[in-house]
Amino acid sequence: MIYLDNNATTQPSPRVVEAMLPYLNECYFNPSSSTAAFTGADAPRRAAAGAIAKLVNAEEPDCFSFTSGATESNNWIFSSITKSFKTGTVLISAVEHASVSEPAIELARRGFKVIEIPVDQRGLLHLDALHDALGEETVLVSIMAANNETGVLQPLPEIGSIIRKRSPAALFHTDATQAIGKVKVDLQGDWPDVDLASFSAHKFHGPKGIGGLYIRPGIELLPLLLGGGQEEGRRSGTLNTPGLAGLAVAATDWNPVSTESIANLRDQLELELKTHFPGAQIHSAGVRRLPNTSCFSLTGAVGEELAATLATQGIIVGTGSACASGAMRPPKTLLAMNVDYEVARAALRVSLSAATNIEQVREFLRQLADALSTQSMLKRVQAVHRS
Ligand code: PMP
Repeated sequence: MIYLDNNATTQPSPRVVEAMLPYLNECYFNPSSSTAAFTGADAPRRAAAGAIAKLVNAEEPDCFSFTSGATESNNWIFSSITKSFKTGTVLISAVEHASVSEPAIELARRGFKVIEIPVDQRGLLHLDALHDALGEETVLVSIMAANNETGVLQPLPEIGSIIRKRSPAALFHTDATQAIGKVKVDLQGDWPDVDLASFSAHKFHGPKGIGGLYIRPGIELLPLLLGGGQEEGRRSGTLNTPGLAGLAVAATDWNPVSTESIANLRDQLELELKTHFPGAQIHSAGVRRLPNTSCFSLTGAVGEELAATLATQGIIVGTGSACASGAMRPPKTLLAMNVDYEVARAALRVSLSAATNIEQVREFLRQLADALSTQSMLKRVQAVHRS
């Protein structure tokens, strides 16, 4: 199988799996018991906090609370807002993942004013619109660091300084799920205004079901999950020790050098795609993107159908709407960028990893042509591209 859907999830590395096994086999003890220091069950949390703090240059390991993943982390923030404030304004971008946009809709139902800040045709946030929407009543701004569909990286430092000037008291959250472990993240150096950042280990070769939230020192959130008072009362529930052990290794093993070779491979893919299909439309090609992501449309095709055919040929790619549980909807991000409905519907998302090589990329391109002809889409695609 050729796996080119690494924005949906990544393969846990052998070192990650190996690190998890002792916490499933021998050291299955409760990490919050008073005996944890003796059994060693408290070690994975310490290792994970230290490793993630180093990976993103956080102030200290204590800045992290661990959750079941970015969905929970994102929901936690919005739920805390409903408990801390009776009313207020919340700003999100028009291209947020559903785990941000759906909780925002819930806030609107409860009487908060929710404003969606648009993006331009390249997928970048309209900074003027952000500036104008901010005010004294703004309690939360949530802008993703990297888009899951196009890979577009938002200018978080600039966004942060606009927020601080206009709404100094507002919380600034970034869903960094696609950024952490794919590009260098420096919370203290580059993102000094970010208060909260969500992440999931399975996006960077860690296990599924474990992630967390960076909470800048001094920021208080009210818990989403109540119960045993774990995580110093911030998040109840027995910690996932195998997950934490895997997360620690995945965070430690991230290699910034690989980003350059992944970007070169992605650029080569786009070059050869254009040779095979001169009319291919590559989305957000001209802006800062994740090095591993290419989102493109062969107009006349239907992305979901194409991805399904490719899967039967042993090639796994995404359509950008992977999280929309199989619904045949065009990627939300592309529609927010004002891409035509038919073009958006045709989109495929290819997301590489350090394990992807040029032979796999070329095989994908060959199979893509085959898949199009199997579906007799090729004629449609060629006709659209000739006209
Ligand atoms: N945010 C973004 C940008 C994502 O891509 C995803 C995963 N598709 C999530 C949040 C949710 O992550 P998880 O499913 O691991 O909770």
